[in-house]
Amino acid sequence: MPQKSMVRKVVDQEKKYGNNSRYRTLHIWIETRLGNPRKCSNCRTTKAKKFEWANISGKYKKNIKDFKRLCTKCHRKFDDTSPKGEKHHWSKLTKKDILKIRKYYIPYIFGFKKLAKKFGVSPTCIVAILKRKNWKHIK
Ligand SMILES: [Zn+2]
Repeated sequence: MPQKSMVRKVVDQEKKYGNNSRYRTLHIWIETRLGNPRKCSNCRTTKAKKFEWANISGKYKKNIKDFKRLCTKCHRKFDDTSPKGEKHHWSKLTKKDILKIRKYYIPYIFGFKKLAKKFGVSPTCIVAILKRKNWKHIK
């Protein structure tokens, strides 16, 4: 049973996060250790359609204490409001940087990692900018 769902999970994550394998493997790692409890540690619901592991520090540490179980709704809210981890790095970037990042990006040639190094942020942050998850107000 874990085999099949695991494969599906990998495919889902791939769609969602591209080739960010660190994030992917970490989520699989946490699931094999803590499973998939159907309870949100924030709003305490047990009736949500989906529950996810949220990374507390945003640094994706291989530490079970750095994860908490949230329903999708709370997870979104948590990601939007979390001042920790990735988020605060973003404030280092200016509007100009965002535009530069989008301009410089060439898949496989000048990719996430190179951009991340150049701008002093994490690759996940670059991915989010490129996918316009954040900085939506900048076109
Ligand atoms: Zn919740």
